[in-house]
Amino acid sequence: MSDNILKIAGLKVAYGGIKAVKGIDLEVNKGELVTLIGANGAGKTTTLKAITGTLPACKVEGTMSYLGKPLAGTQSFRLVQQKLAMVPEGRGVFTRMTIHENLLMGAYTRDDKAAIAADIERWFGVFPRLKERSGQLAGTLSGGEQQMLAMARALMCHPTLLLLDEPSMGLAPIMVEKIFEVIRDVSAQGITILLVEQNAKLALQAAHRGYVMDSGLVTMTGNAQAMLNDPRVQAAYLGE
Ligand code: ATP
Repeated sequence: MSDNILKIAGLKVAYGGIKAVKGIDLEVNKGELVTLIGANGAGKTTTLKAITGTLPACKVEGTMSYLGKPLAGTQSFRLVQQKLAMVPEGRGVFTRMTIHENLLMGAYTRDDKAAIAADIERWFGVFPRLKERSGQLAGTLSGGEQQMLAMARALMCHPTLLLLDEPSMGLAPIMVEKIFEVIRDVSAQGITILLVEQNAKLALQAAHRGYVMDSGLVTMTGNAQAMLNDPRVQAAYLGE
């Protein structure tokens, strides 16, 4: 069996006249933590939305496959059944549901009640703040707490591939540290991750491989450690 989890070839996305993604190739292999970095507007979120089929009406070209099967036209809810989970930018928690209910929603494709309860306890162990506020509406949580909840909810489906869009955005430094600690732990457990981040340094430090996107194109790719040491990456994305 191939180790390939996600394969994108020649992806192009245009919003009307705006060419957001101009033909990119990207691969994520089993067990990898791959990061996609780049400036605002580079096309990173558009790429993730193309994978999950959550783009607004726009022109999409190229091929995408997940576990060797074509992704085009796959409805989002089917992706969760296939264990492809996404934590979108802005978290997307169900604000009018409690924290506990949000976590149960993450497990809606499962029917192993005892294991679901055990998983909830496990995430409460990782994120004690969520446990303390378990019966509280998710909309009352801070941004950082909502990010934790969104990640825990996505992990409740036991994903084969986890897509994370800017998990550190708008968070206090201590929360960013905690979120990255969890990302590294989840990766160490063998879950394959595609991480979109503007915090290039933290992302490359956590990742196995990286891709740099600029104006809709992949301009650089390689081993994450090598990219951290690359003067071009340092000058453009690491503020060094
Ligand atoms: P950010 O970090 O700001 O989210 P990004 O790298 O994820 O940046 P995208 O959000 O994918 O970039 O945006 C790529 C380009 O597509 C930008 O020029 C953006 O203005 C444009 N764009 C994104 N969404 C839409 C939309 N719904 N309609 C029109 N243009 C869009």
